[in-house]
Amino acid sequence: MIYSTDYHVHTLYSDGRQEPEAYIEAALKLGLREIGFSDHLNPDGGSPEWCMKHKSLPRYVEHLLQLKEEHEDIAVRMGLEIDYLPNREDVTDRIISSYPFDYIIGSVHYLGDETVDLGPEFYMGKDIDLIYENYFNLVCEAASTGLFDIMGHPDLVRIHRYHPEADITHLYSMLASAFEIHNVAFELNTNGRNKPLHDFYPDRHYLQLFAEHGVPVCVNSDAHFPERVGQYFPEGYDLLQRAGYKQMAVFANRERFMIPFR
Ligand SMILES: [Zn+2]
Ligand SMILES: [Zn+2]
Repeated sequence: MIYSTDYHVHTLYSDGRQEPEAYIEAALKLGLREIGFSDHLNPDGGSPEWCMKHKSLPRYVEHLLQLKEEHEDIAVRMGLEIDYLPNREDVTDRIISSYPFDYIIGSVHYLGDETVDLGPEFYMGKDIDLIYENYFNLVCEAASTGLFDIMGHPDLVRIHRYHPEADITHLYSMLASAFEIHNVAFELNTNGRNKPLHDFYPDRHYLQLFAEHGVPVCVNSDAHFPERVGQYFPEGYDLLQRAGYKQMAVFANRERFMIPFR
């Protein structure tokens, strides 16, 4: 039996549809060993409607700490999915170090002031090669801050199926090297299957690169409702093992441990 964990789910505290309890129930039904919460937080505040308000953070923490204590049947982990915004490292660090998180997911949703994932409009009429280059550079920069334990959906720019013309193997090599050097894990995010992309992040063709660099990985659903907890995980585990992965990363108190697939 694979030791299954899902560290990327969103609840009513940000843009998810249910209270944390419903996700725990779903995880128990699936036989997951750990369920981790990672509601959206923007270091600049709670203004985008998909983010948790900063003033809700103490309540979020208290709620999850209570659930951790209540559950002996499953390990409940407390995390956040924080937007990486250049030059906001100080405030990000302050938030992260104020509470006993188990892990922090660092995600790039923004290029400049615009989000890359909300709609295809962002890509229309633009130089797609340049967008990819800028996006991958920003993810590397995020990894280099040392603020994050897991890099979220590392090639989210694929979401609306705008492909660069150039070969981009070097971008994935750069990503894998950066993750290795800065000792950060990444996620195989299965939620891309529910998006126009219709596949996981990152691109399955480059998983072997990450494995060769020894970058730790975990499989996450990015579920915004309980029905999607653990979604497509058997396929994710299979892909990783075929790419050469023999173990997966698990997190507690911002420490990483490795667990063999079997
Ligand atoms: Zn995200
Ligand atoms: Zn997410």
